[in-house]
Amino acid sequence: MIVLLIGIGIVLSGRTWLASHPEHNPWAPLDLRDPVGWTTSSKMRALRENVQICRDVLERSEVDFVLLGPAGEGPCRRPDRTRLQDFPATPDTPAVTCELTAALHLWQVNTLNPLASSIFGSEIERVEHLGAYSCRRLYGRSSGRWSEHATANALDISGFSLENGTRISVEDDWSGEGGKTRFLREVRNGGCDVFSTVLSPDYNAAHSDHFHVDMSSRWTGVCR
Ligand SMILES: [Zn+2]
Repeated sequence: MIVLLIGIGIVLSGRTWLASHPEHNPWAPLDLRDPVGWTTSSKMRALRENVQICRDVLERSEVDFVLLGPAGEGPCRRPDRTRLQDFPATPDTPAVTCELTAALHLWQVNTLNPLASSIFGSEIERVEHLGAYSCRRLYGRSSGRWSEHATANALDISGFSLENGTRISVEDDWSGEGGKTRFLREVRNGGCDVFSTVLSPDYNAAHSDHFHVDMSSRWTGVCR
């Protein structure tokens, strides 16, 4: 009897705890305003299956975004082009897939902004990027798998500029000792919780000057 009561007590307190920690609760709907938790990446993965569910999540989470019309042909057709309104990027804020939009937003709120503030006491002014959409196969080869860039399901990020004038470059600051290097390493690691793939200069020479982030449906879990 006592064992049964203790068991019921554990279940009830577990339920109470889960109710106040939706980011760890597999049954709670994804809300991007919640912190990143144990179940965030599996819920992010599910967004890939249905663009309407993904748009509903953006709406529910009060993310400011616009939908653009379909573009492209064949393997580079992009039926889903979504642009974040509150993601300051240069030369522009690119239209990307809905799931990449959701991941970029989570990364901005949970990783980029807090790190800029804690390490530099400043805010992100611009995320510098090298492009999202490019109709090509992996590494520009003439055969083989299409790149996630072919559907704008990827973004290449080369650096960050902060409101206090600090500039952080993946190419120049990846190796070192100071705050810029710590920022880049933690930005990369934080990305691993929300993107399906994150490739940094640690991965190979082709990524010596940028981070590649994508929402590949294979969810390779590659984070290097
Ligand atoms: Zn890339």
